[in-house]
Amino acid sequence: MRIESPKLIAALPEMGVELRPRVSLAEHTSLGIGGTTDLLRIHQHRHLPELIGLLRQEGIEHRFLGGGTNVLVMDGELPWVMLQLAAERNPPRLEGSVASVEAAADLGRTVTWCAKQDLGGLEGLIGVPGSVGGALRMNAGAYGTQIGPCVREVELYRAATGRLETLRGTDIRFDYRHTSFAPDDIMLAVKLELLPRPYAEILQGIRVCNEKRRASQPLSQKSAGCIFKNPPGASAGRMIDELGLKGHRAGDACVSERHANFFVNAGRATSAEMLALVADVRERVRAAHGVELENEVIVWKD
Ligand SMILES: Cc1cc2nc3c(=O)[nH]c(=O)nc-3n(C[C@H](O)[C@H](O)[C@H](O)COP(=O)(O)OP(=O)(O)OC[C@H]3O[C@@H](n4cnc5c(N)ncnc54)[C@H](O)[C@@H]3O)c2cc1C
Repeated sequence: MRIESPKLIAALPEMGVELRPRVSLAEHTSLGIGGTTDLLRIHQHRHLPELIGLLRQEGIEHRFLGGGTNVLVMDGELPWVMLQLAAERNPPRLEGSVASVEAAADLGRTVTWCAKQDLGGLEGLIGVPGSVGGALRMNAGAYGTQIGPCVREVELYRAATGRLETLRGTDIRFDYRHTSFAPDDIMLAVKLELLPRPYAEILQGIRVCNEKRRASQPLSQKSAGCIFKNPPGASAGRMIDELGLKGHRAGDACVSERHANFFVNAGRATSAEMLALVADVRERVRAAHGVELENEVIVWKD
């Protein structure tokens, strides 16, 4: 979608918003798939309510992009504009064992920054790519750690009220790759309650997680991490693997040879190819196990 409204274009600089026209989402997502649209980069959080209000007035749909590591975006001209927070402006701030972190911050760098302050509890999340905001939305987790239990407070733009608000961690539900945030809420910053621990101990935890990840995941290939959630008490990857589907393809979309729940873009995969592979594998697992796999990846197709 192109932003053509002169009123909106004129208002953007005053709201601290930078217009990046004709951005290819294939270049902004870890899958390397996605069509073209205008991207609005938000440099000043306080004007978000005004920006969203103006987009509504102009009848312009929007989607929010973090690091682009958990989304599968349709090809072609996208019918919405993308919003994205500009890179973090301030390093985290510490009050005792509570770190205040911007949602735009890189999750991995945040984990290592906290470790250097002798604060642990997040080490399982090392290697989860993307932003802190995306991790909050998804309740990112790995190796027994999830971000949710560390959340003490979230600053956000709340779609329900159209205002910037602060939510207490105890008022947010964090489930397995699901949270109680509304779809149009935009996370801006978070206070994370961490565990004081010696750096060497945290570093050891980080090393173990990094090694496990390197040994089991196709990290040099384009993917969005796990495509499906694990059904209760089972592993989606194991089910797919047991059906002999590693290497199974639809065009250039391919079930990873390394981890059967990672689907990789092995060349110039289109979103239609990736969606066809997702549907095909889901159907095979349903037929063999009677289990309907649920997407973990967020699909933006209309
Ligand atoms: C190699 C690889 C390994 C991975 N391993 C793991 C893993 O072990 N565990 C795990 O949980 N995930 C994993 N993932 C998936 C992904 O990295 C996480 O879900 C990550 O937290 C997504 O963050 P992001 O900033 O990239 O979000 P995006 O992909 O940009 O967005 C994901 C969703 O969050 C929303 N969103 C993003 N930022 C915000 C914000 N500030 N406010 C409101 N909504 C927002 C988007 O609108 C979208 O709905 C992996 C991905 C890859 C590529």
